[in-house]
Amino acid sequence: MKRADVVADPNPADLAPEGWAQALFDGIDDAVFVHDLQGRILRANPAACQRLGYTREEMLHLTTRDIDDPEFAAGFGDRLRNQLAQGQARFEGRHRTKDGALIPVDINTSAIVIDGKPAVLAVMRDITHHKRAEEALRKQTELLQSILANMADGVLVADQAGRLLVSNPEAGRLFGLGAEDVGSTDWPWHFGLSLPDTMTPFPGGTLPLAQATRGEPVGEVELFVRHAGAPQGCWVSVTGGPLRDARGEIKGGVLVCRDISGRMHAERRQAAQYAVTRVLAEADTLEDAAPAMLRAIGEGLGWQVCGLWTVAPGGQELRCVAAWHRPGLPVEEFVEASLRLTCPRGVGLPGKVWAEGKEAWVCDEAAYAHYPRYPAALRCGLHGGFAFPVKSGGETLGVIEAFGGDLERPDEGLLSMMAALGSQVGQVLERHRIERALRESEAFYHSLVESLPQNIFRKDLQGRVTFGNQRYCATLRRPLEDLIGKTDFDLFPADLAAKYREDDRRVQESGATLDVVEEHVLPGGRKIYVQVIKTPICDGQGLVIGTQGMFWDVTERKRAEEALAGSERRYRQLTEATLDGIVVADRSGRVTLFNPAAERIFACRAGEVVGQPLEVLIPPQYAEGHAQGFERYLQTGLARIVGRTVELEGQRKDGTIFPLELALSVIGGDPERGCEGPDVQFLGAVRDLTERNRIRAVLVQQEKLASIGLLSAGVAHEINNPLAFVANNLAVLERDNKGLLALLELYHDNAGPLARADPDVAARAAALAEEIDLDYIRGNLPRLLNRTRDGVDRVTRIVQSLRGLARTDSPRKQETHLPDLVDNTLEIMRGRLRRRGIEVELDYDPLPRVSCVSTQIGQVLLNLMVNAVQAIEACPLAVPGRVGVRILRQEKEMLIEVSDNGCGIEEEYVSRLFDPFFTTKDVGEGTGLGLSISHNIVTGHGGRIEVKSRPSEGSTFRVFLPLHPLRDAP
Ligand code: ADP
Repeated sequence: MKRADVVADPNPADLAPEGWAQALFDGIDDAVFVHDLQGRILRANPAACQRLGYTREEMLHLTTRDIDDPEFAAGFGDRLRNQLAQGQARFEGRHRTKDGALIPVDINTSAIVIDGKPAVLAVMRDITHHKRAEEALRKQTELLQSILANMADGVLVADQAGRLLVSNPEAGRLFGLGAEDVGSTDWPWHFGLSLPDTMTPFPGGTLPLAQATRGEPVGEVELFVRHAGAPQGCWVSVTGGPLRDARGEIKGGVLVCRDISGRMHAERRQAAQYAVTRVLAEADTLEDAAPAMLRAIGEGLGWQVCGLWTVAPGGQELRCVAAWHRPGLPVEEFVEASLRLTCPRGVGLPGKVWAEGKEAWVCDEAAYAHYPRYPAALRCGLHGGFAFPVKSGGETLGVIEAFGGDLERPDEGLLSMMAALGSQVGQVLERHRIERALRESEAFYHSLVESLPQNIFRKDLQGRVTFGNQRYCATLRRPLEDLIGKTDFDLFPADLAAKYREDDRRVQESGATLDVVEEHVLPGGRKIYVQVIKTPICDGQGLVIGTQGMFWDVTERKRAEEALAGSERRYRQLTEATLDGIVVADRSGRVTLFNPAAERIFACRAGEVVGQPLEVLIPPQYAEGHAQGFERYLQTGLARIVGRTVELEGQRKDGTIFPLELALSVIGGDPERGCEGPDVQFLGAVRDLTERNRIRAVLVQQEKLASIGLLSAGVAHEINNPLAFVANNLAVLERDNKGLLALLELYHDNAGPLARADPDVAARAAALAEEIDLDYIRGNLPRLLNRTRDGVDRVTRIVQSLRGLARTDSPRKQETHLPDLVDNTLEIMRGRLRRRGIEVELDYDPLPRVSCVSTQIGQVLLNLMVNAVQAIEACPLAVPGRVGVRILRQEKEMLIEVSDNGCGIEEEYVSRLFDPFFTTKDVGEGTGLGLSISHNIVTGHGGRIEVKSRPSEGSTFRVFLPLHPLRDAP
């Protein structure tokens, strides 16, 4: 230390510029110069000249102000005074080189005497490097500070004396340290003091900082810390080690602390939940589990008091069934109040949770001041509470509550954990409820089984009896003790026992119920029929562990059933054989039986109808009336048609409606209650009236036609006689008229000569002729007589026709080739057909012969053809007319069909077509007798005539003649 050497010499007077001193002055590495009290530089060594960039000569012309930084130079006077007073001084300054650069310097001055005058010796050292290092250190310290300030971890540094050297903001937050604690030995974490909270035990009983200061590493020690700034406390993980100096000597300790409250909460919650789960799983009842469960919750989550409330029997209020509090805390008053209290819905914290079905907490005292336990809670220092529901299947069965000195609003994690716990406890409560119900139902089952009149037994998988009710024991005539452990082989004949065993095995293997009626042999040997139901018995896991059986005597029923089956068989045979349709329906109106005849009548199969409502057989327009009648009968027993035969209409499957005769009767049912019995059935015997009605209609028509015919013939006969003499007289009149006219002619031609003979008579005759308009009479008389003749002829023809209506004589029948008759008719009609351009289509059977009165059938053909042509003529000309004649052999009949595409027939006229005098044609066009006469002729041949027609579409008349008439008719 050169500088120290210089400084160490206190006597300036001895220092003289001797030869060695000059050598030292010149050779020294530090810049040295001497200036007088005015600052003039008197001497300067080479190092000084070189540093400042001047030659020695230049230097000796300078003052200190020239080489000082102006700011530094300003303090020259003060420094000099100070220096002179002390004898020596040391300070830092800044020199300026010749080229203007500033150099930081460390200056040591000593007062000396040179050449007898006081002067100052200044030794300067360039401290640029040192300054740079200092600057770097300052920056580094700043950086460190900002790192410490922004670190997520807390950092604490203390020296060996326990003085707090460093505490960054996070450490301050975690441990409640302020700026005033730095540098102090009396700070809360001083390792001589205990922690503010006693909750966390320390490994080895030593605080981590003390441990670090002793030189031991501290590895992730977890501590719980609570202080005024963090009343709910926080968990901190601490890592650290000794603080050493450059030589490696221990100077103190460093701790890095991390807030692990989040993780610890989660872990402790999980642990608490696990503990509760274990407690619940191990305890038999909730009462047993409750204390341990509440302790696990309270300790795990850091609460001071916990309680379990359940809904009291009756369901009107909650009762606290268990409570726990942290040992040593003076909260007895609150706990006792809880155990004494009952909370109806909505009252107190538990009542609120019960009413709302969700968690609730108390952290605002004012809002909960009305709670019944509020005063007690305050006195016990419990300022916050939290409660959540115990639920099962959405129903709140109870409430768990917790209180503490200060409870903050619970976070999401806590809420979801509590919800999970609530449902876990709820399931236990529910299980207990079910178990209780099961015990009760078992007792109920047992008493039921004992009081049932059925035989009930249970057997294990090996077929050994494990239970039998009293009835079973009585049936087997043994006490239960005797039966237990026996198999069927001990109790029944071998073949029967083998069968029972086999049944058991099937039930056990398939899991299905066996339900049969079988023979059973009583101990006395009597055979009875029993209804047996066997089901598998399963354990809690669904594994089959045996069979349960139940049987009872159905011998009577079986006999009755057999009798019934026999009767049903007979009944079925009967209904199936009958020609009448039989339809049976039950009291709901659904068809239960539909015999083959009914199938024929309604044209549908029994399978399509049975099970369906009766309405499927009834035309829609009657369906409502049917339903009302049916309902009325079921309600009042008053029937309109039961027991009578009525004519109604039915509906076939294809929708066609047909007349039917129905005989309805009520069968089965309770004779006392009549229609009210559940077994009541309705039997309808149905007869299709279609054919009967058709025949009846034909008969009526024939009857009508016959009587009209007779009447007409009678009238015709009566008219015939006067008509005969009218006709005769007319002939005479015509003849005489001719003579008279000839006479008049003669008279007229000779009027002149006659007048001359007797002018008087001639004048009278002329006046008379004038008066009667003789000329006109002469011309008109023959015309008058001609028209009269026409009229009489027409009346004669009609009378002839009418007489034919009642013809009783039987003209001879002969084998007739029908096409010949058609040809004749066409011949007569030829002109008319041609005029209207009517086309005729002919279609003949290869053997178109039939035995008939050919003139009569010819007349029928002519009538039909005339009508066809007239119908076509009634149509607009534009429509091309067409008449078809078809002769076709059909089994036992010959069909003659005449069709046209004329005007057709209105539906309302069809039934009247064959009536005599029915016509739609103008006078002179038609007499209305053609079809009537044709009908008579055809029926007279044992045949029939039918018509099918639609207005404006044409008509088809069909004449059926028997090929082999039964009698030679008519
Ligand atoms: P008429 O022909 O003298 O009237 P009918 O007894 O032959 O007497 O016929 C009775 C009625 O039947 C006719 O007036 C006519 O209305 C109807 N009719 C008969 N045949 C036909 C047919 N082919 N086309 C349309 N209407 C017919």
